[in-house]
Amino acid sequence: MLNPQTTKTKMRELAPEIRRQNFEEVCLGYTPDEAKNEAQRCLNCKNPRCVAACPVNVQIPNFISLIAQGRYEEAYQTIRSTNTLPAVCGRVCPQENQCEGACVRGSKGEPVAIGRLERFAADMHNANNAEHKVSSRTKRDKKVAVIGSGPSGLACAGDLAKACVDVTVFEAFHVAGGVLVYGIPEFRLPKSIVEQEIRELEDLGVHFELNAVIGRAETVDELLNDGFDAVFLGTGAGLPAFMNIPGEEYSGVFSANEYLTRCNLMKAYRTEYDTPILKSRCVAIIGGGNVAMDAARCAVRLGAESVCIVYRRSENELPARLEEIQHAKEEGIEFCFLTAPTEILGDENGHVRGLKCLKMELGEADERGRRAPIPIADSEFELAVDTVIVAIGTSPNPLISRTTPDLQVDHRGRLITGSASTKTTKRAVFAGGDAVTGSATVILAMGAGKQAAREIIDFLTEEQ
Ligand code: FAD
Ligand code: SF4
Repeated sequence: MLNPQTTKTKMRELAPEIRRQNFEEVCLGYTPDEAKNEAQRCLNCKNPRCVAACPVNVQIPNFISLIAQGRYEEAYQTIRSTNTLPAVCGRVCPQENQCEGACVRGSKGEPVAIGRLERFAADMHNANNAEHKVSSRTKRDKKVAVIGSGPSGLACAGDLAKACVDVTVFEAFHVAGGVLVYGIPEFRLPKSIVEQEIRELEDLGVHFELNAVIGRAETVDELLNDGFDAVFLGTGAGLPAFMNIPGEEYSGVFSANEYLTRCNLMKAYRTEYDTPILKSRCVAIIGGGNVAMDAARCAVRLGAESVCIVYRRSENELPARLEEIQHAKEEGIEFCFLTAPTEILGDENGHVRGLKCLKMELGEADERGRRAPIPIADSEFELAVDTVIVAIGTSPNPLISRTTPDLQVDHRGRLITGSASTKTTKRAVFAGGDAVTGSATVILAMGAGKQAAREIIDFLTEEQ
């Protein structure tokens, strides 16, 4: 039975005044009745535009129709057949630019809440499949090293292990998960979900080597000489960019990466951990993407009295997910649009005391359709802040490319691969995710990891 409701079934959330005080997950998910109600909004289109708009082509109407019938595990397995991380993607994918942006129900009202339904199916699966089934270890002749345990590495490792390849994931940090654990905060993506995904990979036979910085401990060439038949590089884009304006050396200036890593991976918000983090009063975050929203919302939870997002374009151009922007506003974060910092001001002790800014206006659109910010003359003003967090982008860390002969990178340090392939310029070495594209999305990284697994399997077969 079709549900004629023109808006999405609401999802319960923690109230802003409560969540400002803690790091608990903000969105609480659907109950079975809410999920069925929302699933009944799907028209089960013959040519589902939502599927074409999903980077990994999840069979959306099929899984939604299974939810409508109460067949939740089958819905989960339908998603899982193309998406390795449903519980993650249901929470963090920018659905408004992907599946939901293409949903026909969006032309007269709100689209079907595909992300919320994906999350529901995954959470039902996780709640009902707590015990782990360790797959019998078949003899595995071929060995592959996966460098990096973010979404691209995890997806690649999972598909290789399912194809009976012996996989070892090497991760520089002491915890696996990449940005899913060190960047995206607990209140958006509980770490127990990532842990569960990693356990499922371990059950498939994937071996994790933590605290292993490839390029330092061992090089890619050494791995290839030590018996690995192929290597996948899913090393992400963890090197933060700065603005190159005066004052970036003052204490109280952080890259969002450092701030979020201290907070999320090293649990600075928990009293039983002794990770140092600055107790800020007034914080300016520079940038308008998901990273900026996450840093701002962490700063609020760490006790800052005022937090302002400084963005050089207008609200319409904000690249962050709509839900994050909405949640940030509800939590009292202010936005300074059409504003660009020109200098960070320091006090006599070398600590940040303010941020000098210029007002901007939008000029002509560039070839990508983005209107360029143009400074307005004599519009300088100061924001009184004691902390500045810079979230204006990242690029790949050069460690691997510098220590691996024959591995070519472009002018931004991104690994070069074939135009529609994950093969790098070095034989037996494949790459995908942010290390190739620059900072992008979880689902694109995951899609690249899956593609690499297919190409690695072809390569190993040809080599036999
Ligand atoms: P990563 O997730 O970066 O993982 C790379 C891993 O490789 C890391 O664990 C790193 O420690 C490891 N590594 C690097 N070098 C080495 C080495 N030499 N040896 C061993 N290990 C190494 N995307 C969304 O879709 N939705 C969101 O809401 C969203 N929010 C985000 C919020 C933040 C704060 C950030 C930083 C990013 C966000 N993104 C979001 C982007 C998304 O997380 C990334 O596009 C995605 O994680 C990229 O996956 P990856 O596997 O390429 O790399
Ligand atoms: Fe359902 Fe929307 Fe996809 Fe059509 S486009 S199948 S209504 S989710």
